[in-house]
Amino acid sequence: MGLDDRTDRRSDEDETDQLTRVLGQAAPQAAPQVTPASDRRDQAVRAAVEQGVVSPATPLAGLLDVAGIRAGAAALRAAFAEVTAPGTPVLHAFAVKATPLVPVLRLLHDAGIGAEVASPGELALARAAGIPPAHTVLDSPAKTPAELREALALGIAVNADNPQELARIDALVQSAPTRSPVGIRVNPQVGGGAIEALSTATATSKFGVPLRDEGAREWVVRACLDRPWLTRLHAHSGSQGMPLELMVGGVAATYELAEEINARAGRRQIDTVDIGGGLPVNFASDEQTPTHADYARLLAREVPGLLDGRYGLVTEFGRSLLAKHGTLLARVEYVKSAGGRGIALTHAGVQVATRTVYAPESWPLRIAAYDAKGRPKPGPATGQDIAGPACFAGDLLARDRALPPLEQGDYVAVLDTGAYYFAHHYSYNSLARPGIHGFAADARAAGGAVRFSTVREQQRVEEIVAESGGGARDALREL
Ligand SMILES: *Cc1c(COP(=O)(O)O)cnc(C)c1O
Repeated sequence: MGLDDRTDRRSDEDETDQLTRVLGQAAPQAAPQVTPASDRRDQAVRAAVEQGVVSPATPLAGLLDVAGIRAGAAALRAAFAEVTAPGTPVLHAFAVKATPLVPVLRLLHDAGIGAEVASPGELALARAAGIPPAHTVLDSPAKTPAELREALALGIAVNADNPQELARIDALVQSAPTRSPVGIRVNPQVGGGAIEALSTATATSKFGVPLRDEGAREWVVRACLDRPWLTRLHAHSGSQGMPLELMVGGVAATYELAEEINARAGRRQIDTVDIGGGLPVNFASDEQTPTHADYARLLAREVPGLLDGRYGLVTEFGRSLLAKHGTLLARVEYVKSAGGRGIALTHAGVQVATRTVYAPESWPLRIAAYDAKGRPKPGPATGQDIAGPACFAGDLLARDRALPPLEQGDYVAVLDTGAYYFAHHYSYNSLARPGIHGFAADARAAGGAVRFSTVREQQRVEEIVAESGGGARDALREL
């Protein structure tokens, strides 16, 4: 049973139509990018200052490039349409954890992208965005019985992480029929990348069934042969810092396992391979490299059998779809000097760039300087620390970074922060979650005016109090 068959059984016309778009056979064209991303960003920064999206009173905001997100989604679909046999069902499920914002999920849904979720919260976000169950995939290494029951009742695809989880699914499948495609997550154990904390395919990774462990491969084969409803294999071996060749190696190992299962079953039991996400992002320049097309072409060269039409495909890209379309804009509150080092005290720090502050070697971010009017700042570069507002010394986004000398009232833009950054607030010092705004050049306005639309309001201090036990002031006195 392929994704297409499930489409046929759906009655909701709208959903069927959407699914046809998602799984559409015609190669979607990448939207023409009229303006380079860096020019769009410069325009947006200028407009954000002029329109008060950032200001002395609102010194921090996240900006999302809507045209960039649309073009990225179209390019992803085109990349896989180019390498798959005509008619191959392909579902691109955006990893919600990368940018867990409902309007972003909705925008991606319009662009033919579904959702990969890994918690009750993420599933609720996907549902709030109107993403249908047939476009939703549930992965997580620690699904509770209630989560599994809900997913199977909704018909959401579920990938079991381990034998104990599969036993739970056994019981649920026996007690109530489900439309959910069910798969097993495997760890091909092809090795890790440059960032240990993100490497999913090491020998001892916590994810999936470790295929090279003694007896594990045979266990997966038997598990499938014993359960005709197990129709998918899932592997997510990529991550930031992971070489493409290793990612492809993980997919190849998963494909070979699917072939073995199908040969032993004497039928095409495994009908879909979920290859996960994990395409690394270039944080060093505006260039998008590698592209989804690079990855798809490498897959076509190294694992052609996976793409010849016998298997449906699911992908789960997160960072590579959103990172480059987000910019964090922060006002320079003060500048000072210490020990001969220039320091710009800004409002962007650990609360919005947690990984960079705690692991600066693994997560360097580019920073662009703008003046108080939001114009790119000229001038000879000199080494400065870009500091955040939090009260610990390590709260630095960049150390000794060569930038035009920053002045009080300038703005710094922290680039490529659309995934795993400003949507991942860390409430150190009870700093407010910043507002996040989508932007687009307004075609109707002269001079390329930029329009903003608020994705999420800045957190208010009353909300901070409420979320910090403000309604339970006397809770501890009563003990
Ligand atoms: C995090 C995650 C993804 C997305 O990874 P990116 O590096 O953001 O592309 C996809 N699938 C699973 C199972 C994940 O845990």
